[in-house]
Amino acid sequence: MTLSIVKYGEKVLRQKGVPVSQFDSQLKQLSSDMLIAMEAAEGIGLAAQQIGKALQFCVVDVPDHPEHPMDCILDGKPLSPSLLMPMSLANPVVKTLPSDEFYYEEGCLSFPGINADVARPERIEVSYQDLDGVAHTLECDGLLARCIQHEVDHLNGILFIDRMEKQTYTEIKKEVQSLKQETLDRLRVGSQA
Ligand code: ZN
Repeated sequence: MTLSIVKYGEKVLRQKGVPVSQFDSQLKQLSSDMLIAMEAAEGIGLAAQQIGKALQFCVVDVPDHPEHPMDCILDGKPLSPSLLMPMSLANPVVKTLPSDEFYYEEGCLSFPGINADVARPERIEVSYQDLDGVAHTLECDGLLARCIQHEVDHLNGILFIDRMEKQTYTEIKKEVQSLKQETLDRLRVGSQA
């Protein structure tokens, strides 16, 4: 069964994830189920909160751009990002590296149909553990760096609407509020059934 994706308005999206401590077959199963759900929804990243689990765990699958190749250094060695994908990150911690912030239109699978500009640093270093619990450090830029920042925010209960400039948020506020209302209505009906 494909996991369903939690929409804005559900409390779990505001919960900070607990650290992953068991690197077992259950975690591998969770990772593959999340990748299937993400792919089905045509997303490039999915956090555990988005499938209803407040856990420090996310998956990403970011395609490289032929004209603007991303710069990727894993554990000190440069490599093509396509060799890394899809990635599962347990207990990731992001450190921003000296770089300019840039704006880019982001979407989120928990906010279907809502897209808006968010400014984020261009280059980051992320420390994380893989599915076997092995620690890694990845330095990256471009869309991968953006996607990882967006997902790691989820793991801490932070959403892309929190990162928008006030004016940008004002433009989509109505859509966001009606999405929240829809979610709350659905949960109410669900609890009565
Ligand atoms: Zn998101």
